[in-house]
Amino acid sequence: MINALQEEGLNVKAAFENEFYLLKHDDEKRDNTNGKNNKKNSNGVPIKPSEFTPFASSYSMDLNYHIISDIVEALIAQNITVQQYYPESGPGQHEITIMYSDALSAADNQIVYRETVKGIASKHGLQASFLPKIFPDTAGNGCHLHLSLWQDDMNILHDSESDYGLSEAGEQFIAGILYHLPSLAAITTPIPRSYRRIRPQMWSGAFQVWGFNNREAAIRVIREDDGRILHFEVKTVDASANPYLALGVVISAGLDGIRKKMELPRPIQKDPANLSDAEMKEMGVKLLPSNLKEALANLKKDKTILDALGEDLSRSYLAVKSAEYEALGKLSSEREVDLLLEKY
Ligand code: GLU
Ligand code: MG
Repeated sequence: MINALQEEGLNVKAAFENEFYLLKHDDEKRDNTNGKNNKKNSNGVPIKPSEFTPFASSYSMDLNYHIISDIVEALIAQNITVQQYYPESGPGQHEITIMYSDALSAADNQIVYRETVKGIASKHGLQASFLPKIFPDTAGNGCHLHLSLWQDDMNILHDSESDYGLSEAGEQFIAGILYHLPSLAAITTPIPRSYRRIRPQMWSGAFQVWGFNNREAAIRVIREDDGRILHFEVKTVDASANPYLALGVVISAGLDGIRKKMELPRPIQKDPANLSDAEMKEMGVKLLPSNLKEALANLKKDKTILDALGEDLSRSYLAVKSAEYEALGKLSSEREVDLLLEKY
């Protein structure tokens, strides 16, 4: 996909923006939320968030100083540039962002990142989990994919003269991704549990819309304070995705937009959950798939993405994922977490 985009004289730079929970064994089998946030790991050991500080609290930074510093140092030692850290909105949830790079390195970095966070957490006696949704009532773990479009050494996303402030290629690339989101979901949010995260008003992009700085839009175009547009994020991605496949199909969707000269619909600047049915219809706002089965059915019909995967991979991917849906789709939420918490 990188080469195919290169044939258009373009390339992308990318970064995965991971969120994760730090969990600890709950020896007393109870916590200060009356057991609501009790889960078990696959050994049947009850777990709970490592602490219950509020969103972005400096006290969370104090409590987690040693472990976060160790993670940051370990990432730096592996040539990953760390950009920003803050305690995320869920209890025990954190976000450490890393610098963008060329597409292939971004996928490589994602593997290193996941391994590093889990390894360092375990050194500190904690369990880190990127499972897209752990506790039903607290924020899920997103892994938003940040992208920018480049020609040679220049970021060409922005064009101050155009309606949306996007270059022609930039608009087409984003339009292609937006158009294919319902089938991309099968690869970017690939496990049944992924769909417990993608819900309205959870900042996870449940609607097939784009907008400027809109945290409820599946594609959030980030406009800097000075008006420039340097990157955008696809929110419907989580860390259970294979980063190589996820990036590959997202690039192929953007490329399809460029080849077919797709145009973007109007940006949505409101929370789509607050629109009436009539407004949704008028603005063309639709919900993205709410389960893996729906996403797989969309993928099965999406020739562009299937062609990008190639015959063998698309056939085996659909077969394995359908089997996974059959096996896991019937599990209770509790059982699902018990089984998957450590895997991811
Ligand atoms: N936790 C949210 C998600 O599930 C994202 C929050 C944010 O915008 O940083 O995607
Ligand atoms: Mg976040």
